[in-house]
Amino acid sequence: MSRTLLRGARVVTMTPGRPGAERVDVLVDGDRVAGVGQDLDVPDAEPVDLAGRVLIPGLVNAHLHTWQTGLRAVGADWTLMEYLTLLHGGAVQHYRPDDMYVSNLAGALNQINCGTTTLGDWCHNSLTPEHADAAVEGLVRAGIRAVFLHGTPYRDPDLPHPLTEIDRLLDGPVRDHALLTLGMAVQGPQYSSPDTAVADFRAAAERGLVVSLHQSGGDLAPGWDAVRAAELFGPRTNVVHGSDLPDTWVKALVEAGVTFTSTPENELGQGHGTPVIGALLRHGAAPSLGTDVDTVVPGQVLTAARIALAHQRSLDHAHHRQHAGTHADTPSVTAKQALAWATVEGAKALGLADQVGRIEPGMQADLVAVDTRALNLWPAHDPVAAALHADLANIEAVMVAGRWRKRDHALLDCDLSEVKDRLRSSGERLLHAMDAV
Ligand SMILES: [Zn+2]
Repeated sequence: MSRTLLRGARVVTMTPGRPGAERVDVLVDGDRVAGVGQDLDVPDAEPVDLAGRVLIPGLVNAHLHTWQTGLRAVGADWTLMEYLTLLHGGAVQHYRPDDMYVSNLAGALNQINCGTTTLGDWCHNSLTPEHADAAVEGLVRAGIRAVFLHGTPYRDPDLPHPLTEIDRLLDGPVRDHALLTLGMAVQGPQYSSPDTAVADFRAAAERGLVVSLHQSGGDLAPGWDAVRAAELFGPRTNVVHGSDLPDTWVKALVEAGVTFTSTPENELGQGHGTPVIGALLRHGAAPSLGTDVDTVVPGQVLTAARIALAHQRSLDHAHHRQHAGTHADTPSVTAKQALAWATVEGAKALGLADQVGRIEPGMQADLVAVDTRALNLWPAHDPVAAALHADLANIEAVMVAGRWRKRDHALLDCDLSEVKDRLRSSGERLLHAMDAV
C-alpha cells in the first residue's frame, strides 16, 4: 500500500500531553500512522491537502445492535419495556441470515458515513451460526473496523453462552479478517443465574475476549456478587448502561478496571435511568459512548457525545446551584472530554486502546476529516469543539486502516442504491411479520 501525506489540517491527536489541536502533517504508511510532525518531507508519499479541515481520530461507536438497521425508527416512541416486548419478543424470531447481512452492511456503512471507524457490534440476534456468519459478512463488506460481540436472543438464565459458536468464530470467520475482533455479548450477572454468569465470564477470560453485558436499573441480581467473588471483573469487562448502579458498585468496578458504555439518547428517552457518566467522573473514570438502537434513536456517535455532555453539565449545574446557591463559574466537563469519550474511551472499552483512538505513529490509520469550512462550523476558532459540533454534512473523509472509505463526502466501494433496496425489503418483511404476531 502506498504512503499518503495529509497536510494542512488542524490535527486533534488526543495524545496526552499534546496540544488540543496542532498544525502538523500526518504520514500514513500502509495501515498505520507513520509520522506526525511539522513540514514532513516524504517525496514518495501522495500529498492530500486538508486545509480548512480538522483531522480527528476515527470515532468509536462502542455499542450498537447493528442487526436492527432494517427496522429503523419503528420504535421512536417505545419505552424500554415496549422495546423488549415488541422487538425482542416479536421481530427477533423472524430474522433470516440475509436480514442480518443487509442490516449489518447498511448499519456499518452508515457508521462510516458518520465518522465511525470502529464499531462495537453487539449482535444478540445470532439465532444460528448462519445468522452470525451473515452479520460478520455484512461488517466485512462495509469495510469498518469492528468488534463482533457475539450474543444470542434472550434465553434461560441457566443456559451458558454457546461456546462452540465462540470457538468456531475464533477459528474461522473472525480470524480471517484483519479489521475484526471477537468479543462475547453475554446476558451477564443481571440476567443469568450466578453460576452461569461466572461460567460465561470465565470462558471469556480464558480466551482473552472482551465480555460485554447490559445493566439498566433495578435491584442487582445475585450474579454480581458471584462474578466479583470469582474475581472476574477486569479491564476486559464492559458494562453497557450501568444506569442507577449503586455508587459503591461503580467505584468497585472502576477500581477493577471495568469499562462502561453509555448510550445517552435512548437511556434518557426510554427509561433506562440516569446515565452513569457522573458517577464515573466522580471516581476518576470516563464513559465510552454508543448509539445502541437504530430502531429508536439515530446512530451518530457525535450526537451521543453532545447529549452526554449537555446532560452531565445540566446535572452538575443543578447540583451547584442547589449547594452553593449560585451559578457555577466553570464547566464541570469540557468539549475535549466529550470527544475523548467518543474516541480514546471507546477504544479502551473494546480492548483496542493500543491500536485506535489517537493519532500517533504506530497506531492504526483510522482518521476522519471534518470540513470546518462549512457554514455551520466556520470559522471554527476551537478545532476540538468544532469537531464535536460536526454534523453528518461535515464528515468529509473517513479512512480505516489506511484506506479511504469516504472521500469528498461520498462513501466509496459500495452500491448504496442496491444496499438500500435490500434493506427496505428486509425491513418491510420483518415489519409485516411483527404485525402478524
Ligand atoms: Zn444495547
